[in-house]
Amino acid sequence: MKKTLAILLAIVIAGLALAACTGRGEEGAKYDYLVLVNKQNKLPDDWESVIELEDAQNTLPEGVELNENNDYLPTDVFKVEKKALAAFRALQADLEKDGIIILLDSTYRSVARQEEIWKEFEEEKGLEYAQKYVAVPGYSEHHTALAIDICLIKDGVIINDNEEMIAEKELFAKIHKRLADYGFILRFPEGKEAITGYAYEPWHFRYIDSPEIAKEITKKGLTLEEYLGKTPDAPATTEPDDTTAPAAQGIVGTWEARDYPDMNFIYIFNEDGTGSYMGESMTYVIDGDKISITYVGTESFDTTFELNGDELNIVDSLGADTIYIRK
Ligand SMILES: [Zn+2]
Repeated sequence: MKKTLAILLAIVIAGLALAACTGRGEEGAKYDYLVLVNKQNKLPDDWESVIELEDAQNTLPEGVELNENNDYLPTDVFKVEKKALAAFRALQADLEKDGIIILLDSTYRSVARQEEIWKEFEEEKGLEYAQKYVAVPGYSEHHTALAIDICLIKDGVIINDNEEMIAEKELFAKIHKRLADYGFILRFPEGKEAITGYAYEPWHFRYIDSPEIAKEITKKGLTLEEYLGKTPDAPATTEPDDTTAPAAQGIVGTWEARDYPDMNFIYIFNEDGTGSYMGESMTYVIDGDKISITYVGTESFDTTFELNGDELNIVDSLGADTIYIRK
């Protein structure tokens, strides 16, 4: 029994390692468009040496003029990842047809530049201030060149102040609706602050390349962390499809391998089809006596189970069984 369990675990661990290495971007792409960079996840070391950057500048659409007192138009030469920029231009053109004008306001920022900013702030305002207000070099999504902050032009006036932008609810609703069509997601949505580590930023778009995945993320109201199953020290809260609702409610609960106490061989089956095994987040689907378990970010494994009151016998893929008791 012990051996099979070990084999089963080895399969699970190998699966996790594989998922971590291959990434899930487009086949043959030089880099993973789903790369996760946040306060816990650092930019991959070789990222800046492989990313394909392109220069971009803002121009006003024909017939659009700024009001006289408007002196701020972001005229820098921005750098954006090649495909992300093409997708952004297409999004911009699409919105323009409906009279909505969005411009680049902040894009790629190198780790080196972030270090300079950090030092400037630390010298001028102190370490505490820098820690509170400046992203730690290496941990900003803007390093990926896949993140774009936009600003708006409305009635000839540039809107780029954070609070003013948050107030433009209707306008942003229209913009957000089209993001997924071009492979973008809203990276820091409202109500997900605990997961992303950032307050709501209606202006910060993240290119992930695949409109299909972007649509799935948007439709399910997920963050990139949730989609990838990498929420900060908590089980993934990925909403299961309707089909994952467990048929056998009896399995809901916490189960520990009877013959291996203190080994953390613990299954948790939640009511909503999520759960964990040995602390690893998973989702599960039950069909009769068959159970299909999918570890977040890896492939699934299918097996059968037998439920006898407070004893749960899970047969692993090799045909051996392990008895779990309700905790
Ligand atoms: Zn941003």
